[in-house]
Amino acid sequence: MNEYDSHLVASELAAEGAIFVDSLEQANFVLVNTCAVRGKPVEKVKSLLGKLRKEKERRREPFLIGMMGCLASLEEGREIAEHFGVDVLLGAGAIHKIAEAVRSAGRYWDQGFYPELDEIIPQPPHSLSAYVTLIRGCDHHCTYCVVPRTRGPEISRHPDLILREVEGLLEAGVIEVTLLGQNVNSYGKNDPAYPDFADLIRQVAALGVRRLRFVTSHPMNFSDRIIEAIAETSAVGQYVHLPVQSGSDRILRRMAREYRRDYYLERVEKLRQALPDLVLTTDVIVGFPGETEEDFQQTLELYDQVGFDSAYMFIYSARPGTPSYERFSDMPREVKVERLERLIEKQKEWSLRRNQAWVGRSVEVLVRGPGREEDWALGHDQSNHPVLLPAASVPGPGLYRARIEQASPHMLFGQVEENLLVAEAS
Ligand code: SAH
Ligand code: SF4
Repeated sequence: MNEYDSHLVASELAAEGAIFVDSLEQANFVLVNTCAVRGKPVEKVKSLLGKLRKEKERRREPFLIGMMGCLASLEEGREIAEHFGVDVLLGAGAIHKIAEAVRSAGRYWDQGFYPELDEIIPQPPHSLSAYVTLIRGCDHHCTYCVVPRTRGPEISRHPDLILREVEGLLEAGVIEVTLLGQNVNSYGKNDPAYPDFADLIRQVAALGVRRLRFVTSHPMNFSDRIIEAIAETSAVGQYVHLPVQSGSDRILRRMAREYRRDYYLERVEKLRQALPDLVLTTDVIVGFPGETEEDFQQTLELYDQVGFDSAYMFIYSARPGTPSYERFSDMPREVKVERLERLIEKQKEWSLRRNQAWVGRSVEVLVRGPGREEDWALGHDQSNHPVLLPAASVPGPGLYRARIEQASPHMLFGQVEENLLVAEAS
């Protein structure tokens, strides 16, 4: 979501005539997009702002510091911005005001939420894959989570805007579209005239999107209708990211996640029946306040029941202003770290086992650019596995048919069988 927002802002700035530069020395405006979901990203923002403040002190010519996004929506962000001499502060719901802010060439702070933000259609990115925001904000109230305060209540974008944005992307040569929201499954809920998420998937696919993905889903809103829509829409791969957060009902209740373990397992069962090749990933928080060894064991057991393909695993981070921060006391860091390590080990075993099942199979790999290692090109297949292909057989960004020859816990290794589409250099 932040990537999309950064792109939207860059697109607005480009329309104002801004020139983008590669180094701090060349810049006279630096805008930091921020995340507030855990303490660590906030620390990173502070250290970056510290560097920018030094740069500003060193400069003779004008130099503006900007901060946008989730942290910029919070009181915590205001204090940080004050401390580091931030000139432009735009909360997550006010980022479309960037052009006005830059034109003011001075202090411009806005932490409001504006419906006009949703009307902006950014320029297509120079990429084969692009994001499209469907819904902003969140109506759930998970006790650990800062998002409902940083991004406000759920608001679905008008379907016409979404479809128009996707059409523009397709004209620009985009192959893969990822639909975005904190909870895409509840799309359309606030307006009876809008399609629901299941119908929206069908409408977007009907425009001719080759690959369609979506993040994030919430188990509570992952209805049978949505499962049917995924199963019958070939552009949507058999890939679902479905955060579970914990395997213990007691902890789920303390987190105010509205479902229980059995319900989650039932959704997974239903998904697997409809999508036999399902690749399932999740988010888990370990060391939530009050999590006993017994609760944690239930998360480990759930892992063995589900066999996730991969997972984002987080240590609980107490975020000021959230209900769990106010109500519960944090546990010692060593306990959280030790649990995280055990969970990572278990996930590694499952990831290897699940990835090995793809060896010998043929997949479509979308390569967006060069890999980190020279000899390899990095792409991802229709189920979102990262796949490395020998660079020598990949003439450039594009779509390739490849046979998987080897698997590690975090990667598939393939050989190119066919060039399906090689993008023109632009
Ligand atoms: N709306 C999405 C994503 C929310 S943030 C969802 O509900 O799944 C992404 C992930 O960050 C969450 O799924 C959760 O696992 C994690 N997270 C959120 N707040 C956290 C906190 N205070 N400490 C640790 N992890 C957190
Ligand atoms: Fe946060 Fe829960 Fe909303 Fe996800 S569903 S954004 S975790 S409050």
